[in-house]
Amino acid sequence: MSGSDPQGLYQALGIDPSASAEDIKSAYRRLAKETHPDTSANASTEKFQRISAAYEVLGDPQKRAHYDSATYQASTQEAEEHVLDPICCSRCGQVTAQPRHVVFFRVYSYIVGTTRTPVQGIFCASCAKKEGLKSSIITLFTGWWGVPWGPIYSIGSILSNGFGGKHDQAADERLLWYNTLAFLSRGNLQLAYALATLSKRTRDKEISKNAADLAKQLENAGADSRQAKLRNPWKISALYGAGHLLMAFALPGTIGLLIYADSQRGPPHSDYGYTAANIYSAPPSSIQYNPAMQKQPAKPSVPTCVTLPFNGKLLGPNQLLNSGGHSLEIRNGSSGNAIIKLREEFSRTVVAAFYVSSNQTAQIEGIPDGRYRVQYAFGDALDATCNSFVELSGAGQFPQAEALETERTATQIVTQVLTYTLYAVPAGNVTPQHISVEEFDR
Ligand SMILES: [Zn+2]
Repeated sequence: MSGSDPQGLYQALGIDPSASAEDIKSAYRRLAKETHPDTSANASTEKFQRISAAYEVLGDPQKRAHYDSATYQASTQEAEEHVLDPICCSRCGQVTAQPRHVVFFRVYSYIVGTTRTPVQGIFCASCAKKEGLKSSIITLFTGWWGVPWGPIYSIGSILSNGFGGKHDQAADERLLWYNTLAFLSRGNLQLAYALATLSKRTRDKEISKNAADLAKQLENAGADSRQAKLRNPWKISALYGAGHLLMAFALPGTIGLLIYADSQRGPPHSDYGYTAANIYSAPPSSIQYNPAMQKQPAKPSVPTCVTLPFNGKLLGPNQLLNSGGHSLEIRNGSSGNAIIKLREEFSRTVVAAFYVSSNQTAQIEGIPDGRYRVQYAFGDALDATCNSFVELSGAGQFPQAEALETERTATQIVTQVLTYTLYAVPAGNVTPQHISVEEFDR
């Protein structure tokens, strides 16, 4: 039987089978909120479970591909009794003899992380090539600079897109066999014969046996075996493959060049050249560098911290963290130690302050629901309390306030993890804002 939503999963989320990954996610979020037993007056456990079950399949590119292609199942008998519609490309709407279900990836990076968005559907070969190219070009411009996953995901995705996208051979074989039967049911015997010849080589034993039987029948009925060979439209041309290779390897090259160019700019032999603070905060001259950069206390007269805090140590009175709650992870990819402050957006109360050593990652937990801003500062030496720097060499904050909200589902309580990276990414397009020492210390 055909029909593009056999178990009504798309219908459960109120969306169309052609919906994008973003559409699916936002439909799920909205409906989950509306029907959740804890948060809504219109709550319905049954509805909520149905929505969750639908999202579990449709939210996962591979499971979704499987679900979409499982739509197309028919038997030889059905093909003899009914007229079946051959599969159409989800983009151009044209009938395509050799369709595939393909997943392409687009990578988007932000200073706080990298996302890989699937773009998927049943494609004809020509639309698939266009979509692969488009996804790779978007990735080339938006993906590479997230740290550390941007370049890794970008290269992986561009190569995958360039070689036809992610597809599942078993699913493709099912689609091919369905089309064989569809063309058979419509009396296009020569094409059905050509497709049956391809389907004979399928790994699924039942399909390959049925295909062989059908091919034999059609041969007896006069199908011409000399015309049975179909061109493989999915073959990747050398030019197409080379274009993607070039895009994939342009990335490390470009990054290398930028890092090199940047290293030519900084003062020689400086340990402090590449912190997020000085790359991002403009103008660079506004950063108050301690002229005594050689790892000496800023002012000899000021007593300094004797034992440096361990990575992740909470600094000062942090009464506002509780058990459970959300998490904040800071990856300090810079060459200086940092102090991080998490502030409630409106009251500006410091909910937590903690220390992140150079080139380390630290995480705090127990952040209650709320809206927050993340600020950071670098400095050369800690004061005697070991809770703040004697003098800041730079301070900044991430531009967006983040809302943290606990979601309660029927079976679990979902909290959030925020991840920020302090790192030298020249030319990144989300730049932390420079803030004054007073603002950080307030
Ligand atoms: Zn198409």
